[in-house]
Amino acid sequence: LPKREPKPKWLRVKLPTGKKYTELRGLVDKYSLNTICTSGSCPNMGECWGEGTATFMILGNVCTRSCGFCGVKTGRPEDVDWDEPEKVARSIKIMGIKHAVLTSVDRDDLKDMGSIMWAETVNAVRRMNPKTTLETLIPDFQGEEMHIDRIIDVAPEVVSHNIETVKRLTREVRIQAKYERSLGVLKYLKQQGQRRTKSGIMLGLGEEREEVIQTLHDLRDNDVDVVTIGQYLQPSKKHLPVKRFVLPDEFKEYEEIGLKLGFRHVESSALVRSSYKAQKHIN
Ligand code: SF4
Ligand code: SF4
Repeated sequence: LPKREPKPKWLRVKLPTGKKYTELRGLVDKYSLNTICTSGSCPNMGECWGEGTATFMILGNVCTRSCGFCGVKTGRPEDVDWDEPEKVARSIKIMGIKHAVLTSVDRDDLKDMGSIMWAETVNAVRRMNPKTTLETLIPDFQGEEMHIDRIIDVAPEVVSHNIETVKRLTREVRIQAKYERSLGVLKYLKQQGQRRTKSGIMLGLGEEREEVIQTLHDLRDNDVDVVTIGQYLQPSKKHLPVKRFVLPDEFKEYEEIGLKLGFRHVESSALVRSSYKAQKHIN
C-alpha cells in the first residue's frame, strides 16, 4: 500500500453515540474504570455498550509476549494485584453490564500463568453480578491442561481463544505462539465439555484467500462454535503493516463459507473485533 492511502470508507467510523453509551461513558470516567473498549478506542462502543456488553482486561497491562499486531506493552509485568477480581466485579456492577468479556495479557512469567487469577475473577464477577453472563478470552497457557482446567471449572458461558492468523503467518504475527497449540487449546476445551467455544482471525496481514478458508476448516475440525473475522489495523508504525484492506464482499464470502461449515455464529466484516456482538454467542 502507498504510505498515505486513506482508509477505505467502510473503515471510517462514526463516533459512538446513544443514551446508554453516554451514560456508561460518564460512569467510566467518574470511577476511572478500566475497559478495553475505551483503552483500545474500539469503534464498536456505541453498539456494544448499548447492548450492555463490555470487555475487561486482567493481570495488568504489560504482556510477556510481543505479538506484532498488538498494541499492549511488552515487558516484565508488575506483581499480580489480588484486589483485581473485586475491582473488575465492581466495574461490571457499576456499569450494569449484562454480558462481560474478560481477557488478559499473557503471563508466561507466573507459575500458574495467571490461571488462578482468572478463576478468582470469574468467581468474583459471579458473586457480585449473578445475572451477568461471561465470555473468557483466554491465552494459550502454553497448552498446559491444568491451567485450562481452572477456566473450565468456573464455567464461563463462552470460552474463546484467538488463533489470530493463518498457519503460515503465525510465526511472524505472534512469535511466541503456535498455530497447532492454539487449535489444541480449543479442542481440549470442547473435549472437557465446554459448551461454547470461539476463536477469531484478523485479515490484512498478508494471508491468501485459500489460507483463510483452511483456517476456518481447522477451527471447525476442532469443534469451535463461533468465529469472528475482522480487518487488522496497525496500532502504531512499529507494528506489522497492513498488507491490504479486505473488501466487504470478501468478508461476506467468508461468512457464508463459515456458516456452511457449521459454525453457529460467524461475525465477518471489517470492524469486527473478537468481542463484537459477543452476547449472542452464548446461544
Ligand atoms: Fe468493547 Fe469488544 Fe465491543 Fe469493542 S467490540 S466495544 S472492545 S466489547
Ligand atoms: Fe497482545 Fe495477547 Fe500477544 Fe500479549 S499475548 S502481545 S496481549 S496479543
